[in-house]
Amino acid sequence: MTSVLVIGGAGYVGSHACKAFAQKGWRVTVFDDLSAGSRDAVKWGDLIVGDIADPAAVRGALSARRPDIVAHFAALTSVGDSVSDPGAYYRNNLAGTVNLLDAIAAAGPCPVIFSSTAAVYGVPEQSPIPEDHPKRPINPYGHGKLMVEQVLADFETAHGMRHVALRYFNAAGADPDGEIGETNDPATHLIPIVLHAARDPDFAFSIFGDDFDTPDGTCVRDYVHVTDLARAHVAAAEHLLAGGASMALNLGGGAGASVLEVIGAIERELGRPIPRRLGPRRAGDPPALVASAQKAREVLDWRTTYGLKDIVATAAAWERKTRGL
Ligand code: UDP
Repeated sequence: MTSVLVIGGAGYVGSHACKAFAQKGWRVTVFDDLSAGSRDAVKWGDLIVGDIADPAAVRGALSARRPDIVAHFAALTSVGDSVSDPGAYYRNNLAGTVNLLDAIAAAGPCPVIFSSTAAVYGVPEQSPIPEDHPKRPINPYGHGKLMVEQVLADFETAHGMRHVALRYFNAAGADPDGEIGETNDPATHLIPIVLHAARDPDFAFSIFGDDFDTPDGTCVRDYVHVTDLARAHVAAAEHLLAGGASMALNLGGGAGASVLEVIGAIERELGRPIPRRLGPRRAGDPPALVASAQKAREVLDWRTTYGLKDIVATAAAWERKTRGL
């Protein structure tokens, strides 16, 4: 039976990937420090509570489970926070990952799936963005993820560890069965923030700028359903387990939605207007990020199956179930 060690498997994308791995019949072990993830999200496989910054804890998990593959999700994920507190982002997302990779190399290397990001591209010169587009991140979050991609390449040269770096565009939505969803409190991403504003009239929610060079002036992003992302991890794991080459792949739908379009979709889903105000631009926000998902289609036969309407509907259902709407 395939054994997969899921670092950060109690978090948002990680927990959805655990469900997808378990549906394949694989043995799932979650390693998570529960700083952002939650014990309740570990519904598939066992939980080892530990921190990637702790070499002994990582070594212990690897020797106890002897994984065939490691999927690494553990990271701080807020672009805005990375600008105000870069040290935390480089310590956790870069240094923590180097520590993890050292332990994997020492344990007898196995392939790694890494959660990378569209933020590696910075302000894109073309849209949709192909994987070979220049990488010039404009915030510490993107810089740290790009550095890890380089570290992974260097670990392959030194230790033969193959990897797939999956560059997520905007992960969104919740498990269609309602078993798991995004639990960050306070909410850190647009859709949960708008849903928070829908249930709490005192919650001050701002659109971060409406003077970008985009069709309606608000930022455009490629929202991709978390269950689609989860399926891509299974496909990437199968690719690596079959001896496939290392690579970086965009995960997005190839279509963008503006902040105003997302708010409109949520208003239609809930059948009521959502109070919002206009605020200044947020530091580190590129105007538009839309994926070319052609390579993932060619290599992994992966494509998105959920659109914005499904993303919003599943996110709203999760919000209703966990917080009330
Ligand atoms: N955004 C916004 N108001 C908020 C949070 C986000 O206008 O309170 C915008 C943000 O500027 C970006 C988009 O929504 O254009 C998605 O932001 P999010 O933080 O969800 O993801 P990111 O694109 O930063 O990874």
